[in-house]
Amino acid sequence: MDNTFHTAIIGAGASGLFCAGSFNARKIILDHNTIPGKKVAVSGGGKCNFSNLYLSSADYLCQQKHFCKNALASFTPHHFMHLLEDEHIVYQEREKGCLFAQDAQDIVRFLVRRAKKNQTEFSLSTQVLSVLPQKEGGFILHTSKGPFYARHVVLASGGLSYPALGASPFGIHVARQLGLSFIEQRPALCGLTLPKAEQAIFRKLAGNSLTATVTTDRKTFTGQLLFTHEGFSGPAILNASLFWTPSKEVIINFLPGTDVREILTASKNSARTFSAVLAEHIPAKISKAIIGPLEQSLANAPKKDLQAAANRLNRFSFVPAGTSGYTKAEVTAGGIDTREIHPTTFEVKNRPGLYVIGELLDVTGRLGGFNLHWCWASAYSCAGALSRKF
Ligand SMILES: Cc1cc2nc3c(=O)[nH]c(=O)nc-3n(C[C@H](O)[C@H](O)[C@H](O)COP(=O)(O)OP(=O)(O)OC[C@H]3O[C@@H](n4cnc5c(N)ncnc54)[C@H](O)[C@@H]3O)c2cc1C
Repeated sequence: MDNTFHTAIIGAGASGLFCAGSFNARKIILDHNTIPGKKVAVSGGGKCNFSNLYLSSADYLCQQKHFCKNALASFTPHHFMHLLEDEHIVYQEREKGCLFAQDAQDIVRFLVRRAKKNQTEFSLSTQVLSVLPQKEGGFILHTSKGPFYARHVVLASGGLSYPALGASPFGIHVARQLGLSFIEQRPALCGLTLPKAEQAIFRKLAGNSLTATVTTDRKTFTGQLLFTHEGFSGPAILNASLFWTPSKEVIINFLPGTDVREILTASKNSARTFSAVLAEHIPAKISKAIIGPLEQSLANAPKKDLQAAANRLNRFSFVPAGTSGYTKAEVTAGGIDTREIHPTTFEVKNRPGLYVIGELLDVTGRLGGFNLHWCWASAYSCAGALSRKF
């Protein structure tokens, strides 16, 4: 086998596969998994929320606010939709512009087919161990299947989330080795855990959900909140987790749009109990767990009890003990510092021939198809640059 290539792409995930299919040159894509696109296959609960119609750079967290603008403008949701339509792949818009495939496997097959059409060889079950620049130009890749040589290398090895699907710290090892700076990584789009004492209170609600508003770091998200054995999960919490860092406070409003103090005060002169009044707004099981026994009549309740109940339901504040971790986090926030990267080509500024795309970069989207779209958009810009390198 001739193991010298125009380009070697490390990682057969969303970004690596899309990059491979977006330019025509002899290239190899290497992955230690036995099959390509494992994460894409499980994304969106098997339906792959591949993009979002209302996407903008404001949907992403990145230390360099404007970094992703160029790539997002060059490759829009409509570009990806047209590619799917050309291949007769069925998709649909769900709530809030979220675009879902009928079957995530359709997307994986499409990505692999497109890559193969564009001179891509696959080396699966191949762990890349190191990437070393060569004096005469180009790179040598040491792998579990021996050395590979390439004039250009694309790091598309993703973040640390879901190690069971192949995630590894390889990208950051390379960054360290080559002296590239990176933003500390952390799990994101994941559940938040309560301190042990509070866990006991909420554990009995595990599996229940309601619509809530979650605020942290001056960002507020409204959506479903799921009670778990260790704390909270569900879309509102997942989005908030993107902005949460250790020791920051999180505030939950379990009854958005309802002023609990007001509704309790309005019934103050009746013989009704807390539970009777609140039951009109929130399941009794949930309010009881959050504010305790509720059989007291409102007529006898001191004002401070009303205020305390209102605070627990409208402004439940806590400092999470942590997150549900990388095994359950949909993405990894942080990654290779975008100041190192050219925003139109994705080439590392002081390492000609080396490119970084996808989740490995310090660009993280909120829930709703934004992370996969970032993979397509960054891969597309990178492929455009590589197609001009002959
Ligand atoms: C359960 C789940 C559901 C999700 N659902 C959605 C969704 O619906 N919509 C959305 O927008 N986002 C979703 N995401 C996030 C999205 O899937 C990721 O952001 C995206 O797949 C990242 O793509 P990537 O190409 O950057 O990295 P990855 O897809 O992680 O690919 C990296 C590849 O590199 C390989 N690799 C790593 N190290 C090495 C090494 N040393 N040698 C060889 N190979 C290596 C890995 O095996 C992997 O295949 C979801 C994530 C998860 C975990």
